Amino acid sequence: MKLSWKILLLWTIPALVIGFFLWQGAFSPAAGDLGRNTASTRMTYGRFLEYLDAGRVTSVDLYDGGQTAIVEATDSELDNRIQRLRVDLPMNSPELITKLRKADISFDTHPARKDGAIWGLLGNLIFPILLIAGLFFLFRRSSNIGGGPGQAMNFGKSRARFQMEAKTGIVFDDVAGIEEAKEELQEVVTFLKQPERFTAVGARIPKGVLLVGPPGTGKTLLAKAIAGEAGVPFFSISGSEFVEMFVGVGASRVRDLFKKAKENAPCLIFIDEIDAVGRQRGAGIGGGNDEREQTLNQLLTEMDGFEGNTGIIIIAATNRPDVLDSALLRPGRFDRQVIVDAPDLKGRIGILEVHARNKKLAPEISIETIARRTPGFTGADLANLLNEAAILTARRRKEAITMLEINDAVDRVVAGMEGTPLVDSKSKRLIAYHEIGHAIVGTVLKDHDPVQKVTLIPRGQAQGLTWFTPNEEQGLITRSQLKARITGALGGRAAEEEIFGHSEVTTGAGGDLQQVTGMARQMVTRFGMSDLGPLSLESQEGEVFLGAGLTSRAEYSEKVAARIDEQVRQIVEHCHSDARQIMRDNRVVIDRLVDLLIEKETIDGEEFRQIVAEYTTVPDKEQYVPVL
Ligand code: ADP
Ligand code: MG
Ligand code: ZN
Repeated sequence: MKLSWKILLLWTIPALVIGFFLWQGAFSPAAGDLGRNTASTRMTYGRFLEYLDAGRVTSVDLYDGGQTAIVEATDSELDNRIQRLRVDLPMNSPELITKLRKADISFDTHPARKDGAIWGLLGNLIFPILLIAGLFFLFRRSSNIGGGPGQAMNFGKSRARFQMEAKTGIVFDDVAGIEEAKEELQEVVTFLKQPERFTAVGARIPKGVLLVGPPGTGKTLLAKAIAGEAGVPFFSISGSEFVEMFVGVGASRVRDLFKKAKENAPCLIFIDEIDAVGRQRGAGIGGGNDEREQTLNQLLTEMDGFEGNTGIIIIAATNRPDVLDSALLRPGRFDRQVIVDAPDLKGRIGILEVHARNKKLAPEISIETIARRTPGFTGADLANLLNEAAILTARRRKEAITMLEINDAVDRVVAGMEGTPLVDSKSKRLIAYHEIGHAIVGTVLKDHDPVQKVTLIPRGQAQGLTWFTPNEEQGLITRSQLKARITGALGGRAAEEEIFGHSEVTTGAGGDLQQVTGMARQMVTRFGMSDLGPLSLESQEGEVFLGAGLTSRAEYSEKVAARIDEQVRQIVEHCHSDARQIMRDNRVVIDRLVDLLIEKETIDGEEFRQIVAEYTTVPDKEQYVPVL
């Protein structure tokens, strides 16, 4: 603020100077009253006196406090016609007045028109006044919200929005399906509102709460709901806002934010996507990012700098807790972690109900059916799904969303845009065999998820698709289920081989093979499901986080590496031969299903099972949930 006052003064001076000159301009005689009297001809003072003596002057009007006169005089040379002439009078000529009176000449004085002058003055001052007012407003604004966009003198100010009564418009009722996280945060609000309840029994109120969970699960939404319901000031800032291009700015933002928060305690600070600042220090190729590390250090210092009971609680959100600096996670900083996970069936029903509130659903639609079709969907996915369905409904000019639109929207959200079906050709036949290959394995193997539908309508990258109904929320997967999945994924390629021969197989199985390899490798290295025994040989395969990940890869010797490869190969080969056996055993029904698929483009799971059941026994899969 000190700085901005200086700047304000700096601007005021030139503004006043400009104003002064304009003001001067307003009072020069040319712009005054005389301008309105059309006496353009000038006469010297001496000449005027001569005229006066000669008795040719008929009237005199004095202007500008007696400095100028408009003189009416008769001109003997021009038939005594009356002339209007302008005379500049010398200062202070009282004798002139006497003379005029003696000569009995009518004279009058006209004072400078005061009201006009005031308007002129105002008119001319408007510009500087506006300028000053504008500057003033600008500075006031920037000091209020702490740094408007890109103000040179306010780089360091945090951009946290100060919200006494947070107007996010989101309430706890808008958040569904993540009940535990919701309760945890509601408790945080109690900490702020009734700290005595906790301090009375010697409890230290937590300083920080870290919301952890995959993208789209509602972390930001939850924080917004808190803002709306907590009834305390709420500062929100995103991690990336801390880190900016200018050295030292991130750190000073942090300082500023905490300073403001202390002034407004009790209050909440929300730092979204904290991984942008909170990454493990010293990680990354070529050393760390100095600026980011300073920001993080400042954050750590600030979090130590206030006592637990000062009434500031920091809520942060991230989907990468693994990259966060461990210093940030120790007790006394973000000592509470709240997991916000993808919702379960009940959660999805809740979320769908929230988002269905403002949509027109056909009466036959069952929210539960939609929820059953969408395991693994996050809140954001579900919101998107209903929106896609609504768009489809509008495009089809229907009154309300029906199950048809919902199903199309699910397909679209999962697999991408629908393409145009292929014309009947050899490659269409091959794709049909490939898909039926997947589907038949999925149907005859007891441990495989049941087929939901097979289709030849391209979507996204895929030319054809086989959909399976994943079994609901079963966190644990057995070894035979994994093997069934591998066999199923190999079904496509196996069918190509059996029907078209070794040399005719296509690139279409590329994606399947990638999946197969991944699953088989995890069976060996993570789940201890091979002859290598119950060893965890690799940590979770994720993106290798540059720096941190590079060293932790090889947790085994070269010899073990060779054995891993061999075990993976064994699993895949075993499943592959199983898949080919299934193709040979079911050749007749496969041919029939392919013809049907080419004709109909899509076969749904129930029909598929019925046809297969005419030829072989189809195991009962009790967890199967029919989809309308
Ligand atoms: P993130 O966890 O990545 O911060 P968001 O909170 O930004 O996810 O969620 C994005 C959108 O998804 C929200 O605006 C909301 O419409 C929807 N959404 C996500 N989770 C939920 C939920 N639990 N309840 C209701 N809507 C949700
Ligand atoms: Mg978010
Ligand atoms: Zn395939």
